[in-house]
Amino acid sequence: MRTLTHFIGGQAVAGTSGRFSDVFDPNTGKVQARAPLADAAELDKAVQNAREAQRGWAALNPQRRARVMFEFKRLLELHMDELAELLSSEHGKVVADSKGDIQRGLEVIEFACGVPHLMKGEFTQGAGPGIDVWSTREPLGVVAGITPFNFPAMIPMWMFGPAIATGNAFILKPSERDPSVPIRLAELMIEAGLPPGVLNVVHGDKTAVDAILDHPVVKAVSFVGSSDIAQYVYGRGAANGKRVQCMGGAKNHGVILPDADLDQAVADIMGAAYGSAGERCMALPVVVPVGEKTAVALREKFVAAIAGLRVGVSSDPDAHYGPVVSAAHKARIESYIQMGVDEGAELVVDGRGFVLQGSEEGFFVGPTLFDRVTPGMRSYQEEIFGPVLQMVRAESFAEALSLPSKHQYGNGVAIFTRNGEAARQFAAEVEVGMVGINVPIPVPVAYHSFGGWKRSGFGDLNQYGQDGVRFYTRQKIITQRWPTGEAVADQSFVIPTMR
Ligand code: NAD
Repeated sequence: MRTLTHFIGGQAVAGTSGRFSDVFDPNTGKVQARAPLADAAELDKAVQNAREAQRGWAALNPQRRARVMFEFKRLLELHMDELAELLSSEHGKVVADSKGDIQRGLEVIEFACGVPHLMKGEFTQGAGPGIDVWSTREPLGVVAGITPFNFPAMIPMWMFGPAIATGNAFILKPSERDPSVPIRLAELMIEAGLPPGVLNVVHGDKTAVDAILDHPVVKAVSFVGSSDIAQYVYGRGAANGKRVQCMGGAKNHGVILPDADLDQAVADIMGAAYGSAGERCMALPVVVPVGEKTAVALREKFVAAIAGLRVGVSSDPDAHYGPVVSAAHKARIESYIQMGVDEGAELVVDGRGFVLQGSEEGFFVGPTLFDRVTPGMRSYQEEIFGPVLQMVRAESFAEALSLPSKHQYGNGVAIFTRNGEAARQFAAEVEVGMVGINVPIPVPVAYHSFGGWKRSGFGDLNQYGQDGVRFYTRQKIITQRWPTGEAVADQSFVIPTMR
């Protein structure tokens, strides 16, 4: 069995804590490798390497840093197939979907290539007599990212792309469940010309996370994962004086108005609900048809569409989705299905007990559909993160609008309609951070920013885009006056103003 290593100072470094975590192949259910779990001393080693490397990296002009990002983008494209297969073999998502995971991260790298422009400050000439004012953006120093299992390429790149391009050194603590792609990304960054030590990957669990949160040299922490841990990381990091942004869980709703193109909406929602086995924070696991007629028609179409779904191993080019990430997660999803039944929801299609011939031990869950789910049910209130679609029938537009607004999570939401006025009102009033209008997965493009509301996001700056640049840099504002040679004015003891 392979034993994975950390990546510190541009090199593979064996774990020394003596603790390891199993890495499974979800297709077969077998352990395929083990990842070392770092202790505080190993984390400190990475931070010291990063601190050493950061000064020289930040001193390069931004165009030279951008060139490394350009080359990294080229290498990502060159290695796309290899990376996607590796990603699928640990995560379980189908290879085409893994390519999408890498591509969305690559787009953030493209954005980071614009760093000479992105870091430009502002300038005011003649803000007062002989006075000019300007601002600069400077890197923070050593910063860290803690990432979830479900996007092992995209989310690390959301973070280290802008952080490194702006002149920081980065410590990545990826998910211990699929740790190999983050290591390959770091190796490719070195190949692209990044000085050793600027990007370090340290595997670990809570011990490594706490070591990051408590390390005085780490100036900022970016986290993506489940909400309870997001809140914990936010609290502990902020209490230690760090800049922190934490993205949490989700339960995204798709509202279907009676005038929507139902066939198109069903096609869109099938991919959004079941793609990647529902293991996306922008998945659409709740559908809200407005009116009885819409609900009846929609249910019929979903049942037919589910019958055509192909669940398969992640290397199956015809599979719509593959296994979920672990046996524990499979058991958790199935327990939520049982909870829905116990709470009185109508189980229309039951995905429990799904067995794929030839992969009997794989972590597969069949597509599941519930109807007549109600807001009081725990299975509705909590995130399931599996291939489970829940229909919550609404009688009116107002009721449909209130459901995502009142939910504890506020990551994404979508409305399907032909009525521009209704869509506009929905987008303006809904209490959710990212809204799709006839768009099922409204993940903003790389030059906007990503972030949810309520328990889906802690902190005030979003991921990537301009917010990413702001998060990883601090502003300095310089007010300058040069002596003109004229007579020196009298001393003044009042606050200076620009009269
Ligand atoms: P997770 O919260 O279990 O793990 C996230 C990270 O936290 C991992 O690196 C993990 O090692 C670490 N961690 C785990 N337990 C910890 C603890 N007790 N203390 C400190 N750190 C700990 O999340 P996951 O299962 O890997 O990912 C799925 C979750 O992430 C879902 O809730 C999903 O909605 C969410 N997610 C959110 C977004 C977003 O942008 N809002 C994006 C992707 C995933």
